Amino acid sequence: MKQILIISGKGGTGKTILTASFAAISKNKVMVDCDVDAADLHLILHPNIKERYDFKSGKTAVVNPIFCNKCGKCQEVCRFDAISDAFLIDSISCEGCGLCAQVCQSNAIIMKENLSGEWYVSDTEYGPLVHAKLGIAEENSGKLVAKVRQVAKELAQKENSDYVIIDGPPGIGCPVIASLSGIDMAVIITEPTLSGLHDLKRAIEIALHFKILIGIVINKYDLNVDNTNKIEEFCKKTKIDIIGKIPFSKEVSKSIVNGIPAVLFCKNNIAENIRNIWEKIK
Ligand code: SF4
Ligand code: SF4
Repeated sequence: MKQILIISGKGGTGKTILTASFAAISKNKVMVDCDVDAADLHLILHPNIKERYDFKSGKTAVVNPIFCNKCGKCQEVCRFDAISDAFLIDSISCEGCGLCAQVCQSNAIIMKENLSGEWYVSDTEYGPLVHAKLGIAEENSGKLVAKVRQVAKELAQKENSDYVIIDGPPGIGCPVIASLSGIDMAVIITEPTLSGLHDLKRAIEIALHFKILIGIVINKYDLNVDNTNKIEEFCKKTKIDIIGKIPFSKEVSKSIVNGIPAVLFCKNNIAENIRNIWEKIK
C-alpha cells in the first residue's frame, strides 16, 4: 500500500481538484482530507457519513467558585492574563498550561478536556473517505491530521487497498509536517506565478527533509510561460521531476460548481492531462 500526498505550499493552486480527480480514476484506495481547517474535498466527493467521532485535544482551566477562597494565587501565576479579578477563567485566553490548578490549594480548579472538532469515516461513489472538521478558533490541527491519517492507513490495511490518496493541508506549517510523515510520494502542485515558485521551493525543502519522492505538477501553466520556464529551470537544477502540466480551462471552475471531479467533467484535454499524471504517479 502506497501513501500519496498532494500539497501545494499555499491554498488555491488546484490541490483539491487534482486529489478529487485521482480519487475518481484510481482503483482500490482510501481517500483522506487533511485540510482539517477548511476541508473542501467533500464538496466534490459528496460523502455519506457512516461513522462520526469527537476529537478532543488540549485542556482549559475551569474554576469551581464553591471551593474558591479568592486567595489570588492562580491569577498571580497565569502568564496569559486568563484569570479575571473575580477569579473566573477566560477560555479563549487560557492556554491550558495547568499551572493555576497546581498552585490552587483549595483544589478549586479543574483542567477540562476541549472538544476541538469531529472526524468521520464516509462512503463516496469513489471509495471510502476519512475526513474531519476542526472547531472554529481551535488549534492542534496537526494532531487532527495525524488522527485522520492513522485511521485511513488502518482502514487501507484492513481493506488491502493499493493506495491512500491524501489531500494535504495548505502552507508548510505543523499540519503539513504531520501529513508528510510516512508518505511514499508528495505531489506538489504549483502555478506559474512568482509567489507560486516561492511556495514551491518551501514545499520542496520540507519534503526533501523527510526524504520523500517528489513530483511537480504545474497548473494553468499556459497563463504565464515565462514563470513556467522559471519553475522548470528550478526543477531541472534541483533534479526534481515535473510529472505534468495542466493548461488553464474554464471547464475546471465549472466542474467545481457542479461538484464533479474535473477528470470526469472536463470534455477537453484537461482530463487526459490528469489521467497521464496519475499514470506517472503509479
Ligand atoms: S488559587 Fe484557587 S482558591 Fe485561590 S483564587 Fe485561584 S481558584 Fe480561588
Ligand atoms: S491553565 Fe495556564 S493559561 Fe489557563 S488559566 Fe491556568 S495558568 Fe492561565
